[in-house]
Amino acid sequence: MIVCPHCQHPAEIRTSEQQTRLVRELLLLCSNDTCGFRFVGQIVAVRTIQPSLDPHPAIALPLVIRSKPANDDAPIPANDERAPAADAEPMS
Ligand SMILES: [Zn+2]
Repeated sequence: MIVCPHCQHPAEIRTSEQQTRLVRELLLLCSNDTCGFRFVGQIVAVRTIQPSLDPHPAIALPLVIRSKPANDDAPIPANDERAPAADAEPMS
């Protein structure tokens, strides 16, 4: 999601146009009616996580070596907290 730089509400992509093999330009509109900001943004390919199996010779993005997957967030579930052991029955 892209947020409006002014009011931080979500911005909707109205149109987009490929500029180069690495850059796509977006026309965005803030979803906050009291803001109404329209702006141009870009999506740019900047790094390689896994090389292409069908590479184009003109594309040379730096390879990023990761020790773990990019989406490795593993938040603790909100309902996974354990009660303190004080109320536990003593083991016989
Ligand atoms: Zn806005």
